[in-house]
Amino acid sequence: MSIAIRTLATTLLMGSAAAYAAGHAHVHGVAKLDIAVEANSLTVLLESPLDNLLGFERAPRTDAERRQADAAITKLRSAAAMFGIDPAAQCKPAHVELSSSALKLGHPDPKEQQEGHADIDGSFEFKCADASKAAYIDVGLFDFARLQRLEVQVATPHGQFRRDLKRPARRIVLTK
Ligand SMILES: [Zn+2]
Repeated sequence: MSIAIRTLATTLLMGSAAAYAAGHAHVHGVAKLDIAVEANSLTVLLESPLDNLLGFERAPRTDAERRQADAAITKLRSAAAMFGIDPAAQCKPAHVELSSSALKLGHPDPKEQQEGHADIDGSFEFKCADASKAAYIDVGLFDFARLQRLEVQVATPHGQFRRDLKRPARRIVLTK
């Protein structure tokens, strides 16, 4: 590759990384949660830059990085620890699905394969006796030290609202 072409390619890569950061609201330190409360289920969708969990955004390259990635995945999969739902609703974890192209997990959105950045998405389903009785969720996600803030959108049969959370707070109130 000639120097001129390489410079052009570098410029294009940097441009697309910037566009990606703006367009997808991929901001390190911030993750998005969408919480849906239905009669007998409660579902949490997580969208996070991989950096929040690992401090890097690519496939692990060393044994230490692989161990770090495995530990993060195991932690996320323990849905009841990540999302402590008000016991009044009697919810039990039913299904967890994680996807990340960098970690070769699940079925990642091809749009996420962007230069220099990578995400991890999670879907956490709980079956509940009566999800509407859940007055709060205590999140364990701030165990990931790089995560500073959660942008939380809640949808219940009674309406939708925002509930942003900043460390060290961990309780998302689900009542209006
Ligand atoms: Zn990033």
